[in-house]
Amino acid sequence: MSLRGVLFTVSVSGLLILMGCSTGGPDFVAKHEPWRESEESACLAAGVVRPSPFLEARSALGGPSYCGASRPFQMSAADQGRVSLKPPALLRCPMIPQVERWVSRVVKPTAEYYFGSPVVEMKVAASYGCRPRNNQSGGKLSEHGYANALDISSFTLADGRVVTVKGGWWGEERERLFLRAVHEGACGDFTTVLGPNSDKFHHDHFHVDLARHGRDGRQRYCK
Ligand SMILES: [Zn+2]
Repeated sequence: MSLRGVLFTVSVSGLLILMGCSTGGPDFVAKHEPWRESEESACLAAGVVRPSPFLEARSALGGPSYCGASRPFQMSAADQGRVSLKPPALLRCPMIPQVERWVSRVVKPTAEYYFGSPVVEMKVAASYGCRPRNNQSGGKLSEHGYANALDISSFTLADGRVVTVKGGWWGEERERLFLRAVHEGACGDFTTVLGPNSDKFHHDHFHVDLARHGRDGRQRYCK
């Protein structure tokens, strides 16, 4: 019998959960990680993320022990509406200020430096999705499954230029330098940053997330 389309749970030591998405997606392995809920609650309580015309509070997703977020936000733009996210991204609270920081401290000034034109749009290749990493069946649940990750595939400038990760990473010099600076700059704002140098799955987009790496959960993975 195919696992696809069937929801089932296998408990090993009470921690490991193997799920087949009821929507028919590939199955994945997930672990209950209490830090996720406490981190989201702390972020919501801190009040740093407030709904705005560009940030809409949405109802809970997935969960509670696998996938989802208790109060995700739909983010349609950063930098007070000046940089659109298209289509809007569904993200959990801790991701919002980090995306804002990356855009305002890295993406915007880097575009001005290399092209003399501001960024007006970032193409969202993926945000929330209850699926295994890299869509590889049987793999660990992706940070996308917790609305804790964002994939960006291109940057549109005010002058109309569109810099794609796929075409620009090995493209003309300015685009190469811009994309590398934007990628490297993301490493200060996120705990995981992946791009074309990481693996074949990221040849056409940057993946950023706030996973916890290493024993103390404080290591960063930037490649
Ligand atoms: Zn991703």
